[in-house]
Amino acid sequence: MVAQQLRARGITDERVLAAFSEVPREAFVDPAMAAAAYADAPLPIGMGQTISQPFVVALMVEALRLRPDDRVLEVGAGSGYAAAILSRVAGHVTAVERHLALAEGARDRLAAVGLDNVDVRHGDGTLGWPDAAPFDAVLVSAGGTHVPPALLDQLAAGGRLVIPVGGPEHQELLQLVRASDGTLREERLGRVSFVPLVGEQTAR
Ligand code: SAH
Repeated sequence: MVAQQLRARGITDERVLAAFSEVPREAFVDPAMAAAAYADAPLPIGMGQTISQPFVVALMVEALRLRPDDRVLEVGAGSGYAAAILSRVAGHVTAVERHLALAEGARDRLAAVGLDNVDVRHGDGTLGWPDAAPFDAVLVSAGGTHVPPALLDQLAAGGRLVIPVGGPEHQELLQLVRASDGTLREERLGRVSFVPLVGEQTAR
């Protein structure tokens, strides 16, 4: 997976690549699906949601340009896999999930693989997680109609935010970087297809 799906397609951050080698992806999918855990595709995780394709997770995590002591917010914890990858590259991760059953499952899997710098919270991540803010990086793992304002409010100076923005079928992956004077710079990273972001600060 690391060689063929990530390195060969241009992922170069060695710390990100190492995280993918260290985190057992099969621990984050249904045991019945274990044989497909390293497939080059998203997989169902229950409640109509999916664990993202490894390359897309790598692209997003690389774009967050994480440093070892960064504090990260993930919106859409799902299986907990992306949070596990983030936890190997950053200092602390708060991962919010709106489905209670998924939040509990993610918490159990992260504990089972021994990752203790991730807090999984049940709630609406479009509101961010004010108690743990500000964040050096924010990863939105579901597709929104726009960037939820609360997430920008909770992004530290110098912070990076990655989010798929667009319609229900396809979105554009955006990277926003907050300069020290507070201004935001936006870059487009390509077309992606995510399950919808559903919350108070989105139209869906
Ligand atoms: N990062 C996940 C992929 C999750 S798919 C993984 O590695 O497995 C997107 C997830 O976002 C779904 O689990 C969905 O329930 C969740 N989600 C959608 N809108 C949300 C919101 N407003 N707050 C928190 N979670 C949300």
